[in-house]
Amino acid sequence: MSHSADDTVKVSNFLRAIIERDLEAGTNAGRNFAGTPGDAAHHQAGAPDPAKVRLRFPPEPNGYLHVGHAKSICLNFGLARDYGGICHLRFDDTNPEKEEQEYVDAIEEMVKWLGWNWESNDTSHLFFASNYFDFMYRAAEYLISAGLAYVDEQTPEEMRLHRGDFNTPGTDSPFRSRTPEENLARFREMRDGKHADGAMVLRAKIDMASPNINLRDPTLYRIRRATHHNTGDKWCIYPMYTYAHPIEDALERITHSVCTLEFEDQRPFYDWLLESLAAGGLLAHPLPKQYEFGRMNLSYVVTSKRKLRQLVEEKHVKGWDDPRMPTLVGMRRRGYTPESIRNMVDSTGVTKSNSWIDYSVLDGYLRADLEGKAARACAVLDPVKLKFTNWAELFGSEDHVELSHAPAHPHLPELGTREFKMGSEVWIERDDFLEVPVKGYQRLFPGNKTRLKYGYVVECTGCEKDADGTITAVLATIVPDTKSGTPGADAIKVKGVITWVGVQDAVAAEVRLYDRLFTEAQPDAGGRDFLEVLNPGSLKVVQAWLEPSLKDVAAGAAFQFERHGYFVADRVDHRADKPVFNKITGLRDSNWAK
Ligand code: ATP
Ligand code: MG
Repeated sequence: MSHSADDTVKVSNFLRAIIERDLEAGTNAGRNFAGTPGDAAHHQAGAPDPAKVRLRFPPEPNGYLHVGHAKSICLNFGLARDYGGICHLRFDDTNPEKEEQEYVDAIEEMVKWLGWNWESNDTSHLFFASNYFDFMYRAAEYLISAGLAYVDEQTPEEMRLHRGDFNTPGTDSPFRSRTPEENLARFREMRDGKHADGAMVLRAKIDMASPNINLRDPTLYRIRRATHHNTGDKWCIYPMYTYAHPIEDALERITHSVCTLEFEDQRPFYDWLLESLAAGGLLAHPLPKQYEFGRMNLSYVVTSKRKLRQLVEEKHVKGWDDPRMPTLVGMRRRGYTPESIRNMVDSTGVTKSNSWIDYSVLDGYLRADLEGKAARACAVLDPVKLKFTNWAELFGSEDHVELSHAPAHPHLPELGTREFKMGSEVWIERDDFLEVPVKGYQRLFPGNKTRLKYGYVVECTGCEKDADGTITAVLATIVPDTKSGTPGADAIKVKGVITWVGVQDAVAAEVRLYDRLFTEAQPDAGGRDFLEVLNPGSLKVVQAWLEPSLKDVAAGAAFQFERHGYFVADRVDHRADKPVFNKITGLRDSNWAK
């Protein structure tokens, strides 16, 4: 499978067909848009909408965005871009209890980081649903006057019992037959704080016998004394999500309201509500239409804000931006690029069923992105010393230093060259030496010749051990006249090539080797407690030696460590005098196995 950036994979996306059909039929042509959200009169007084379609990404600011949200972001902003439209970023902040400014800021930052923006024609399309509370209240009063809503004083338990179930129709509330005047008076008392939290609710008056339970007089407003991050203590009644969301879409003149499958059964209510308000002249036609698609899930992670919060609060990870987290802040810190995430979510298409995508697909796109741009560097992650026993004899002094050079990138000369020093001792990987070679092993073992990349061919002569038998140094002799890049260097053919870092100029660094956070591909499948399948080995920290070009690199800079894979200077902990790198992912296939 190829994942190159210019691959134009045609993936199925039924929403494109819907939008193309609507554009052709002129379904949304001739709409006015006043430049800001508002009711029918507001938009009617505006100019023709320059946007052919309007979509929105509507996060609730109650947590950090995760990779599933990236799907929704790229889908909505991508459709708007492709069809001459505009995509709004709307904070769905109608629930006063769990929402915080911290999340608002983080969400804005991540949508931009993914490469999208909500500015268009010098207008910012950044909206807060809580700014629509006044309209929502007015719309509720209208529904009451039109006989389409009533205040229900049943207890929650009675309401549940009277709702019926899949096989049984519901029964009418004794409060259902109140007059609009009575209901209006009661609703105003609710608003004015005359009743206790939970004492009564406002319900739509639709059909208690509807086969769709969502149409059995759904709740529109509840009493809840809570301070809202935007409106403070102005309200003690708050709209329910199912009531608020269609209105938000309509006030913003959204044409295609894209959501995930679990809202499919809400669509009849979405249409009922908007049609009712349009009939009363509060909203203008054409009304937004809701379309549902399947959620995207990534293997070996969980993507529910509640579960992610649990991982953070119970300290199974080191915060929302822990590089093992599938949050966008975590993935960015791990080193995943916006391109790799966008390409992955695009590759999944848009269908009517929930999908699982394997982490290897993301890793494939990450490699495809970084292969062509990340500078190369050598690193030794599990170091042991290699000593050259003929160094002084060959170069006249134990302190002699040879310079080696290598391109920063094999195909990008503009990235320049790396320079590093080889002296009488270098660092190599511990597993690049075997006292007794296994079959096919071509690296260092007594009597074998191997090339040190960008350096000399060496012949291994043995090793030194401590009292416990642990190997403390590997011994070798330099084969003269074999230095890479000098005439005749290839005269001696060897099969093995290893990387190394010079003792003279090596940079000490902490390297964090990450593995998947869970041991099961679907950690929460079948109601399993996902904490039971946490991978205890998801983080391994090693003290490594890096080549000198990795001194003073900026936090967030990504490299290919030769033989090892892709690494990034950690955004949070990396310092020039105390480097910290994260492993993003390994190389696709390793030529280094032998
Ligand atoms: P969570 O269940 O993690 O809390 P949510 O859907 O409740 O997610 P919202 O903030 O309401 O979180 O989501 C904003 C938008 O992102 C919604 O339109 C939602 O449908 C979409 N979304 C969330 N998760 C996914 C996913 N896994 N795949 C596609 N879209 C998603
Ligand atoms: Mg939600």
